[in-house]
Amino acid sequence: MTESLKVAVIGAGTMGNGIAQTFAAAGHTVNLVEVAQDGLDRGLATIRKSLDRFVKKEKMTQEQTDEIFARVTGSLDMEGAVADVDMVIEAVFENEAVKKEIFKKLDKAAPAGCILATNTSSISITSIASATSRPQDVVGMHFMNPVPLMKLVELIRGEKTTDEVVARTKAIAEGVGKTVGVAEDYAGFIANRILMPMINEAAFSLYEGIATREDIDIIMKLGMNHPMGPLTLADFIGIDVCVNILDYMYEQFGDPKFRCAPNMRRMVQAGKLGRKSGEGFYAY
Ligand code: NAD
Repeated sequence: MTESLKVAVIGAGTMGNGIAQTFAAAGHTVNLVEVAQDGLDRGLATIRKSLDRFVKKEKMTQEQTDEIFARVTGSLDMEGAVADVDMVIEAVFENEAVKKEIFKKLDKAAPAGCILATNTSSISITSIASATSRPQDVVGMHFMNPVPLMKLVELIRGEKTTDEVVARTKAIAEGVGKTVGVAEDYAGFIANRILMPMINEAAFSLYEGIATREDIDIIMKLGMNHPMGPLTLADFIGIDVCVNILDYMYEQFGDPKFRCAPNMRRMVQAGKLGRKSGEGFYAY
């Protein structure tokens, strides 16, 4: 394990609370930041519940999980929460303007030498870094959902990120039990650049009547030894999220290979966003 660090996680949603839990479980001290008390309470409750599951499964003792939970402190004051940390990991909404605004504030409030990481799944690290006076310290740290269980961190090097910051971030990620793959900063990086066209092609296959949703999923699941089929996975990720990432890659590369399947776009218009809305390619 690396030395014990002070870390601030911005955003206590799906990803933020998982990141906070993972760092606390590895012995780091975490300030978990939200905009409002209810969001913060929800994030902390999710961590407690997740830790309780480890106790139930007898993978950890109550005492161990209490210690982990005690290392996470909730805060509504971002500037205060980052004032003395070694690393910040931003995990707020996937919106470039919102992220840039946050990094502008982090630039003023975080100490010199602090690693400024973003958990964005597709937005340019270089663009987010441009909101700061220290783009060399800004790095992409793309965790997978659910963070406590998924092994991978996709690490993204912005145009100005130094090798030293990439190496330090990699060591920290490995210290919390993750395996790192490094990508250069182009839209979608590696994970979504390859995953989203697969999901998109599955949606096109359905749209063009080549197979049923069940047949598409079973062929890809068993044929490729994937844990689930691409349409089931799209429902899990969120159809809106898939459409947004495809649109972003299409816009950034100007390449028709990223054009979004019309049936996915129509599903979003109809509010069929996957599991979270109760219906996507399948009904839940
Ligand atoms: P989410 O909507 O569950 O959580 C975002 C949280 O950020 C919300 O609770 C919101 O209140 C909070 N927030 C917004 N502005 C804030 C601010 N200024 N200060 C503090 N908190 C603020 O979103 P999520 O699914 O956790 O996604 C977060 C990021 O992680 C996004 O960039 C997303 O693309 C990326 N990501 C998501 C997944 C996934 O499967 N959900 C996977 C990998 C990466």
